[in-house]
Amino acid sequence: MTFTPHGKHLIAGEWVAGDATFSSSPAHGTAHDFSVGTPDHVDAAAQAAEEAFWSYSQTTRKDRAAFLHRIADEIEARGEAITEIGMQESGLPEGRLQGERGRTIGQLLLFADHILKGDYLDQRHDSALPDRAPAPRPDLKMVQRPIGPVAVFGASNFPLAFSTAGGDTAAALAAGCPVVVKGHSAHPGTGEIVAEAIHAAIRACGIHPGTFSLIQGSKRDVGTTLVQHPLIKAVGFTGSLGGGRTLFDLCASRPEPIPFFGELGSVNPMFLLPDALSNRGAAIAVGWAGSLTIGAGQFCTNPGIAVLIDGQDADAFVTAAAEALGKVDSQTMLTDGIAQAYRIGRDRIAGTSGVREVLATSCEGRQATPNLYETDAQTWLNSRTLREEVFGPLGIVVRAKNCGQMVEIAKRLEGQLTCTLHIDDADTAVAQILMPVLERKAGRVLANGFATGVEVADSMVHSGPYPASTNFGHTSVGTLSIRRFLRPVCYQNMPEALLPR
Ligand code: NAP
Repeated sequence: MTFTPHGKHLIAGEWVAGDATFSSSPAHGTAHDFSVGTPDHVDAAAQAAEEAFWSYSQTTRKDRAAFLHRIADEIEARGEAITEIGMQESGLPEGRLQGERGRTIGQLLLFADHILKGDYLDQRHDSALPDRAPAPRPDLKMVQRPIGPVAVFGASNFPLAFSTAGGDTAAALAAGCPVVVKGHSAHPGTGEIVAEAIHAAIRACGIHPGTFSLIQGSKRDVGTTLVQHPLIKAVGFTGSLGGGRTLFDLCASRPEPIPFFGELGSVNPMFLLPDALSNRGAAIAVGWAGSLTIGAGQFCTNPGIAVLIDGQDADAFVTAAAEALGKVDSQTMLTDGIAQAYRIGRDRIAGTSGVREVLATSCEGRQATPNLYETDAQTWLNSRTLREEVFGPLGIVVRAKNCGQMVEIAKRLEGQLTCTLHIDDADTAVAQILMPVLERKAGRVLANGFATGVEVADSMVHSGPYPASTNFGHTSVGTLSIRRFLRPVCYQNMPEALLPR
């Protein structure tokens, strides 16, 4: 089944064309025209979302679970067409798009199960103590309630699982919040067909059409108007530090500030402790090369830095990593802009004094090939550039003089999504010194693994101190992410008939 996009926005159940259009720039296949979103489209979608909130927020958990199931079914029914247009627009391979569709459906079903269990409501009850002295205690009941319309910015690097019907949308809809998606301009056709699936589910389940809207974008005023719209009550975002920070600041400076749940940049350092390095450095190097280059390195959990102690074992690790990376073919990046940003980042690292080139490859256009550099701990500590994310398959090995310098590096890290320890038994004492530092720095700390591949589960935390995310108390992956779109309400002496269903 081939899908030809019509290029319109979906606003409150209607496909709406704009006056102007922009052209998609697929990695391969035919470009299509899409309507350019405007502040008027944003206003119409936000008004409809607010209207929908009054009925959608009052739906039962069972009804919302059925709705999430139906969205999953509608996506699956369009599976082949979604994969086809997703591959064209993103340049990602078929297997990856199929896997991402499975993940997207899995997230919707996970949230359906999660809300049916009801634990997320965190219900509390302090019974009345009418005879308590000196003052009686009223009857207090607390429950989490949906916050209102939520804006979602689709991510370029996950056209399905972090976009139109991705984790943010699934969490918000599960919570009882209508969603307005700002489609990513890198995959507008993929966004359109997934929006079509949600639209079909809305009709099938008899949900208010304002519960979901998609506004296609290529102009910044769609995003800026959306986060400042007075009816929008929270924002979910995955993308660049620069874009995320701009939108975060706009949310904070509104007359009524709202939470901006931004998942931004991270270099995801790995610390290779001496015994692990000595016993299995070459195997870790091969695993690292795989993690660093999967999906052309376009993962927020890409482990960009390996910290180890200088010496022969470090030399062997670098040689093994270079050999493994040297075998990786060039890969297509998500957009021309991201490919260009990768080369700029690479040149910035290569041009930093004290950095040595280990594997330097050249690539053109939308292609990317791996690059590997190494430096000493002092150079890394002195250079802000070396601590910044390069989005793509680029690794830096940092050679420390001793374990003390490793701890110094850990302390200098900015907030991270992940930090990883490679450890064997004899490394435990050093690892115990590093752990209190790493757990202050990252949302997820791993032992003997690689950070790419984020399990969607109850215990997952995909977040971290700034700049990894703008709100370290939450996560954008896993069932805990629903808490972003809820707020606690206390009901004092409230008759049963007036409590939420
Ligand atoms: P992005 O440029 O931050 O864009 C993300 C979304 O925000 C897009 O919808 C974009 O609109 C919008 N946006 C960005 N800046 C804005 C602004 N100032 N005002 C209003 N809207 C704005 O991210 P990207 O396109 O996904 O990738 C670009 C860079 O982001 C990459 O090179 C990489 O460094 C980083 N990145 C990081 C992660 C991560 O998980 N850490 C993931 C993806 C990308 P348009 O569609 O109109 O551009």
